[in-house]
Amino acid sequence: MKIETLAVHAGHAIDSATGAVAAPIHLSTTFERDVEGSYSRGFMYTRNDNPNRQALERGVSAIEGGEAAAAFGSGTAAAMALFQALSPGDHVLAHVDAYYGTSRLLRDLFLRWGLEADFVDMSNLDDVKKAIRPKTKLAWMETPSNPLLKIVDLAAVAKIVRAASAVSVCDNTWAPIIQRPFDLGVDLILHSTTKYFGGHCDVAGGIVVAKSDDDFFKRVRNVQYAGGAVPSPFDCWLILRGMRTLPWRMRAHSENAAKVADALSHHREVERVHYPGLPSHPGHEIARKQMSTHSTDAQGRFFGGMLSFEVKGGRDAAMSTAAKTKIFIRATSLGGVESLIEHRASIEGAGTTSPEGLLRLSIGLENADDLIEDLAQALS
Ligand code: PLP
Repeated sequence: MKIETLAVHAGHAIDSATGAVAAPIHLSTTFERDVEGSYSRGFMYTRNDNPNRQALERGVSAIEGGEAAAAFGSGTAAAMALFQALSPGDHVLAHVDAYYGTSRLLRDLFLRWGLEADFVDMSNLDDVKKAIRPKTKLAWMETPSNPLLKIVDLAAVAKIVRAASAVSVCDNTWAPIIQRPFDLGVDLILHSTTKYFGGHCDVAGGIVVAKSDDDFFKRVRNVQYAGGAVPSPFDCWLILRGMRTLPWRMRAHSENAAKVADALSHHREVERVHYPGLPSHPGHEIARKQMSTHSTDAQGRFFGGMLSFEVKGGRDAAMSTAAKTKIFIRATSLGGVESLIEHRASIEGAGTTSPEGLLRLSIGLENADDLIEDLAQALS
């Protein structure tokens, strides 16, 4: 099946009891036991498993080409489960430009629990090789990264990590569908399904997808149901519904973002645009190779809906630009149908490495011409 067909049907089945085409939502927290004491229908207690969560996990596994998945109440809870599956003394290598919440988890929580962590620019393969230690058990990649849209060569880093007998993870939140980490040798994929999977800024969730249902993934699964940071049945239902239109939305987000990036790169008040679809982007050639690989009609044509740009004049100029937009909404997060604009440095707070003049855009599904006009008037 092609990806669009898979997205519509994976995780869905006609309800055998009623014939309902849209899946029912199973709110029951507990499930009947058979007379002899077994659970032949597969469910016992909602924290352990639930029909809507199972449908979501199967659907997302199918989309990513994995063997299994574990859904959580947020992307951060999913990341947390991966770190909790490690042991004290294990070393984690993470991309320096990873989502700041993920770096914060490692620095503020897991160092105290005995994990060790180093942050390197994974777009530099020599730095990755040098930073790997005998104790390295997990390498965390994120590409395109947040908020500088740096590109990590997934195949090359996964190879280095595999040679060191460690597990590689790709946070694929920013490029679902258009980037296929398992095809590039990555072991685990993380999504904040709060973003493009949900697609409408109305549900939080996260998921870990495993290429193989191995011992490490079984530990993640154990953290999921023993720890209980699970999504509600309704949240699972919403995310799986969002997935049905994901391939088409990713194309539209990407096409709009490419137009906006191009327009901004010619604007006199703009210092720099970070978008991997621009030929001037340092990671463009790698992005061409590793993005769009699963679209039915495109090779290296879709680079996602996220971009950032630096306004001439630094923080004040950036803040005043964000204050003047009429269509772009000043809000954090991404992946919804509405376009968002955000001053990253002030959201990230103390210790931020985001340039003060940088604004991050989540490009929605409005008409690109309207978005370009809105930014032009805000920059004037
Ligand atoms: N990973 C990336 C790339 C993100 O952008 C985010 C949130 O912005 C997360 C993970 C965390 O996800 P959540 O907010 O669902 O916990």
